[in-house]
Amino acid sequence: MGEQWIFLNGEFVTKENAKISVYDHGFLYGDGVFEGIRVYSGNVFRLEEHIDRLYHSAKSILLDIPYTKDEMIGHVLETIRRNGCQDAYIRLVVSRGIGDLGLDPYKCKMPQVVIIVEPLALFPEHLYETGIEVVTVATRRNRSDVLSPKVKSLNYLNNVLVKIEAHLANVSEALILNDQGYVAEGSGDNVFIIKNGVIYTPPGYVGALEGITRQAIIEIAADLGYTVKEEPFTRHDVYVADEVFLTGTAAEVISVIKVDGRTIGDGTPGPHTKRLLEEFRRRVVAEGIKAYPTNANVG
Ligand code: PMP
Repeated sequence: MGEQWIFLNGEFVTKENAKISVYDHGFLYGDGVFEGIRVYSGNVFRLEEHIDRLYHSAKSILLDIPYTKDEMIGHVLETIRRNGCQDAYIRLVVSRGIGDLGLDPYKCKMPQVVIIVEPLALFPEHLYETGIEVVTVATRRNRSDVLSPKVKSLNYLNNVLVKIEAHLANVSEALILNDQGYVAEGSGDNVFIIKNGVIYTPPGYVGALEGITRQAIIEIAADLGYTVKEEPFTRHDVYVADEVFLTGTAAEVISVIKVDGRTIGDGTPGPHTKRLLEEFRRRVVAEGIKAYPTNANVG
């Protein structure tokens, strides 16, 4: 890729020129929403679902995005084309906009929209073969009635604290419990366990983001004939599971082979997790909105 072009409020600017005011309330207060989206071989995975979630998050915080959903989809596709990417991670951010130093969002007249297309592999490939180790942390998931984890807001401090705890424990990711001790999710991914061939993931009300990858895996697992249950579970259930894995736009489907020092299964990625990852990777390149027109109708 040559020059990296960033969509900034309706214009394409270079990375060096992609700047936002220090009075932007996304910066001052974490007031805004965002999405992380993936493009595989020029196909944008579940773009409409990501855009729906973005607009739901925005509605929840009374943030009026200055584009229709179709226009936003067009801007995402145009940004991919502009950067000539086939495989990339996309960050779409809508902040409340520029206001004064006070908290009042009504003083922010125009939300700022940023789309970044980054041609990066996010998790090193060897981790899919070895699996990863995680810990549970003291930081609890935000209570749904305080700041709903379903809102993908710019306020990720809760998750940042979890990441710090993970680093202090010398691992890269952690599981977050909710205020009642049920396992909610990872700092940037959803969690699944498998016991006796049945797949479990916490329901949204336990305190998880409604992950797009989570939903894809629920559908893939059902297609492959698995029983999938959205049920709360505890740390103990994770320790004694046959397999544990995380899902997310960045993580895809990644096996967890140790939790709080307890080895899961035989300490290597299990057969069900591998099968789900394989099927997920097969579908992501086959499905999705195409960023580039095909030549199918030419000539
Ligand atoms: N939970 C949190 C807190 C996240 O930030 C993410 C990443 N967006 C996920 C779960 C996974 O969601 P998705 O599959 O839509 O990327």
